[in-house]
Amino acid sequence: MSTTPISLFNTLTRQVEAFETIDADSVRIYCCGPTVYNYQHIGNLRTYIFEDLLTRTLRYAGLKVNHVMNITDVGHLVSDADSGEDKMLVAMRREGKSSEQIAQFYTDIFFDHCTLLNIRRPTTVCKATDHIKEMIELIKRLESNGFAYLAGGNVYFDVAKFNEYGRLAQLNLDSLQAGARIEVDSKKKNAFDFALWFTKSKFEGQELQWDSPWGTGYPGWHIECSAMAMRYLGEQFDIHCGGIDHIPVHHTNEIAQSQCATGHIPARVWMHGAFLVEKDKEETKKMSKSAGSFLVLDDILTRKLDPLSYRLMCLSASYRSELAWSWQGVESAHQTLQKLRAAVVALQEQDSDPPQTPSAKGAEYAERFRQAIFDDLAMPRAMATVHAMLSDSSVSPAERLALAIDWDEVLGLGVASWKPDRTAVPAEVKDLADKRVAARREKNFALSDQLRDQIAALGYTVLDTKDGYTLKREQ
Ligand code: AMP
Ligand code: ZN
Repeated sequence: MSTTPISLFNTLTRQVEAFETIDADSVRIYCCGPTVYNYQHIGNLRTYIFEDLLTRTLRYAGLKVNHVMNITDVGHLVSDADSGEDKMLVAMRREGKSSEQIAQFYTDIFFDHCTLLNIRRPTTVCKATDHIKEMIELIKRLESNGFAYLAGGNVYFDVAKFNEYGRLAQLNLDSLQAGARIEVDSKKKNAFDFALWFTKSKFEGQELQWDSPWGTGYPGWHIECSAMAMRYLGEQFDIHCGGIDHIPVHHTNEIAQSQCATGHIPARVWMHGAFLVEKDKEETKKMSKSAGSFLVLDDILTRKLDPLSYRLMCLSASYRSELAWSWQGVESAHQTLQKLRAAVVALQEQDSDPPQTPSAKGAEYAERFRQAIFDDLAMPRAMATVHAMLSDSSVSPAERLALAIDWDEVLGLGVASWKPDRTAVPAEVKDLADKRVAARREKNFALSDQLRDQIAALGYTVLDTKDGYTLKREQ
């Protein structure tokens, strides 16, 4: 094990722990990806922003990151347990398209939205439908280790055989069973057993089917993540992530499968992002697709808000705290983003070189920033440091700019590409500049000079060019 300067909250132990990596200088991390039967709503995107902040923080600490994300394009039923239809089938009926077309459409949109949010693409993106062979192999392994049974055509995982079942969620099977509200499936020995492989006995209409030793059918949702994590990251890796709803079912079942196949828990650290919630007077509910109404990134773009305002809004809370959605919240983040942009642009326009060695004050800010992000991704503290540093005139403009650009490797707000916004020249100024071009064409230089003075009075310098003019805003 190798030490790192980072501490992370591990859901397995419910503690913030010093993070150690299995391999020296590199991290292997698996993040549950989207079920591509619909748009990822802005709640889902909050979880991917958290995972992006994590991988960027790991890189900032000098680690090489091997980040794997799956695309669920089969097997995720309407409930996270075994009830309801495959979500892809629901979408096929809704949209009259093939499941492949639906998966491609929503996968592309998901990555477009990630790009707009500066979420970096994982090292490997893998589709469930491309890994059926690996899933079948894993189920065979579970069968031969005595943890799977065949009933009514389906293969189930036998939770009673695994005495650590539910450790992640701190589930107590006996008390859960007493009050279980889980779908009764008479084929299961135990209500908490879950399907590893369905045959056509589950749904006659299932279009996505593969041959298997247990009959033609399709895999359960949980087995895909166990199989793909193992395929790309090995039997033991460093971190596994997802949203908190994955704790009681999906990740609990993933651990059961992987641990019973290999003899050890697949990831050492399990991290979960809290929900984006909608609050009204009566209740707080998570943003969800099943509830019917949900917001997607396009809704933010339609209101002419910068998509990165949503990223900034997410930075205002710890990934472990609920974040309440409101338009007011994202509009205020938009304003803050504009102010940050203006502050950085003002620094860019001051011609000075960064100091050869950091100033004492600059080094102090750098340390504060590192401590915040390495303390279980304390982004609100990191952002407070950004604001304090940018407005501290005791640090030279060039050093402040260098710090802002360096920290943006983690924050992902796109600081290095922020440029003065020339398009925002007021219409009044443009109008005067156009009149000045006409005056010059008519050789009316007195009027032209007069117009130049009026433009200057509005804070702009007009510069003549071959094709007309450019306007430079004076600071
Ligand atoms: P899904 O496509 O439904 O599998 O969800 C994709 C990711 O979003 C998973 O990691 C979920 O745990 C997460 N998620 C679902 N709803 C929310 C929410 N309201 N806020 C934050 N994350 C969520
Ligand atoms: Zn998963």
